[in-house]
Amino acid sequence: MATAGKVIKCRAAVAWEPNAPLMMEEIEVAPPQEGEIRIKVVATGVCHTDLYHLFEGKDKRGFPTVLGHEGAGVVESVGPGVTDFKPGDKVIPLFLSQCGECKFCKCPKTNMCDCSCNYHDIMSDPTTRFTCRGQPILQFMGTSTFSEYTVINQIAVAKIVDDAPLDRVCLLGCGIATGYGAAVNTAGVTPGSVCAVFGLGAVGLAAVMGCKNAGASHIFAVDINEQIFEKAKIFGATDFLNPKAYNKPISEVLSEMTSGGVDFSLECVGNTEVMRTALESCIKGWGVSVLVGWTDVKDFSAKPIQLISGKTWKGSLFGGFKSKDSVPNLVCDYMTGKIKLDEFITHKMSLEQVNDAINLMKTGDCIRCILNISK
Ligand code: NAD
Ligand code: ZN
Repeated sequence: MATAGKVIKCRAAVAWEPNAPLMMEEIEVAPPQEGEIRIKVVATGVCHTDLYHLFEGKDKRGFPTVLGHEGAGVVESVGPGVTDFKPGDKVIPLFLSQCGECKFCKCPKTNMCDCSCNYHDIMSDPTTRFTCRGQPILQFMGTSTFSEYTVINQIAVAKIVDDAPLDRVCLLGCGIATGYGAAVNTAGVTPGSVCAVFGLGAVGLAAVMGCKNAGASHIFAVDINEQIFEKAKIFGATDFLNPKAYNKPISEVLSEMTSGGVDFSLECVGNTEVMRTALESCIKGWGVSVLVGWTDVKDFSAKPIQLISGKTWKGSLFGGFKSKDSVPNLVCDYMTGKIKLDEFITHKMSLEQVNDAINLMKTGDCIRCILNISK
């Protein structure tokens, strides 16, 4: 491509500081270096983790940055040493890498790759490929999909089939893979089991879909926003509970309705009280509760008897999927109808409307908004 090896000037939404609207800017995107890939971003979802960094992060560390980690695009050029990707390949950036070399990648029990820019705001070398107004701009989660172009290490990019619709499969870069995998991988939901999913945003709805595909017989959908229950039905929820509608803890309600508690519960809110409730809602002896919701500012607590009685409390990052291996398969699962994606999309906007999309995410009306970045 004519742009290979050159700096690309393009549009991006820059988060200059916490708690402020993103600014549309022209940024410079440097060519990819050893092992890196420059990607033309076609579409991206907006996820609550983007909002979390913008509004609830602990300090000004991690700014200025370009947010966005649920994108899909096309390879524009590759750096030296990249052999598995070529210009024109369709790809999904991964906030969780899979280097294939570290002890975690080599272990089938986990997806916690040790070797990448996981949770760092910059490329792994460690510099950023973005500048704006003469200043380096960080790359949030190593992905930065709120930009027309981004540069990512090849260990954090998944190559997908050529006919995949990028404005939908982008959702597999975070929320949907996360919730779905939390049910099928981390919880290990079994056929005929009784499940409860707390929080029915995109992540929770995907967890419901995972419970359903794993053969659960009952799936309790728990949310304080009852408007979402109709949607949850589409993904396979069978029973619906609003904790605010009861004058006793919802764990007690669930325990009574299920003769002692559910086999599997998944917390998809990011609230430590709900995490505790989800654990308490499990049946003693074998109940498994999975933390999916994100918070790093609060500790959680629970009575030790909850675990002594034989329950298991687990957490799940990116649904336990080894990212590079699994995302291409999930794309195929969507193409063959095994998993739904279209039903999560409630809004579509342009990159310029990103602040509207962020505001919309704060209301209960939006499950996922797709930003069309470029054609
Ligand atoms: P979301 O805000 O769209 O959905 C949260 C849902 O929880 C909403 O429907 C809300 O009404 C409901 N809710 C709020 N308080 C509740 C309560 N007390 N009881 C029951 N329901 C309640 O969020 P999302 O995009 O679906 O993400 C969910 C969480 O998952 C976030 O914390 C996000 O940061 C996290 N996340 C984790 C990972 C991971 O790898 N572990 C990846 C992506 C996102
Ligand atoms: Zn996300």
